[in-house]
Amino acid sequence: MMPNIPGYPKRIENDTNAVAIAEKSFKCKIAMKEAVRACLINSAGIALLLLFPSLDAADAKKIGIEVENTPGWGRALDIDIITRTGIVSRKDLGLPARVCVMCGKEAKICARERSHNVEELRDTVRRLLACTVSDQAPSSSES
Ligand SMILES: [Zn+2]
Repeated sequence: MMPNIPGYPKRIENDTNAVAIAEKSFKCKIAMKEAVRACLINSAGIALLLLFPSLDAADAKKIGIEVENTPGWGRALDIDIITRTGIVSRKDLGLPARVCVMCGKEAKICARERSHNVEELRDTVRRLLACTVSDQAPSSSES
């Protein structure tokens, strides 16, 4: 899992907070402890890798999406589920694609067409990640 930061630099205020809260939320929902945990922080940003050998990939993706749907910071995070055969997509599960944090259209389309000003996108992400400061104990929302 990693914050989805438009433009550069890839580090942004509260990025580590957001990942810490997302990790807690994800592990709380799956009620399982990871076999391997690695957190990478460098100029490409922050990325947390968790390995769950016995977790079903589709279940993991659904839970990842629940975490991504957390109001506020969840929308600024990407949680990818990677299996031996590749990445599990929302489409694989028959779910709609992620929407853009700014306009609600499909996020991939906005990214490809560069629909938004990078500084405005960064400000939006900054605002979303600022929610982590007041949201240290995440509830499970409506799941
Ligand atoms: Zn958009």
